[in-house]
Amino acid sequence: MTKIYDRIDLQALRMNGVKVNYLYVCERKLWLFDRGIQMEKNHEKVLLGKLLSEYAYPEKTRREILIDELIKIDLMDSEEIREIKYSNRLANANRIQVLYYLYYLKLLGVQRKGVINYPKMRRKEEVSLTPEAEEEVQEALKKVEEVLSSRKPPVAVKKSYCSKCAYYEFCFG
Ligand code: SF4
Repeated sequence: MTKIYDRIDLQALRMNGVKVNYLYVCERKLWLFDRGIQMEKNHEKVLLGKLLSEYAYPEKTRREILIDELIKIDLMDSEEIREIKYSNRLANANRIQVLYYLYYLKLLGVQRKGVINYPKMRRKEEVSLTPEAEEEVQEALKKVEEVLSSRKPPVAVKKSYCSKCAYYEFCFG
């Protein structure tokens, strides 16, 4: 019998995880990243490699994964994905990425719940892949495709976090 793994482009899905995050951070960042202007390439390579190893070695229950320069996810155990954040500045982007990973896992036939921890704020947010959330992920994936189908990057619109972005000089230098 063909496993679902055989029918999924795992590499594309993992890349989409980063792209879905960037979609919510900044569409221009998403476009630049996709076109190979990857100033954070090393971070992402670390992330993707570690994510893959999680699936390859599920018995190793706790790993820390660095996503971009802001997000850390611990794949804690067989029940949940845990993300630890230092601020809620990009909370929505974190949330959609966790939802994306839950969606990704679901496609692999694995059920997990997501937890986002805000240690500084002494808060945590639970994230579940509800049918609505699943639709949101699917819409985000469509939107990613839409942004990336453009021949030109979206215009640079200054945001409060632009100065922390690796593309800042590229956009506003
Ligand atoms: S500097 Fe700002 S506008 Fe440019 S890619 Fe980064 S977040 Fe987007």
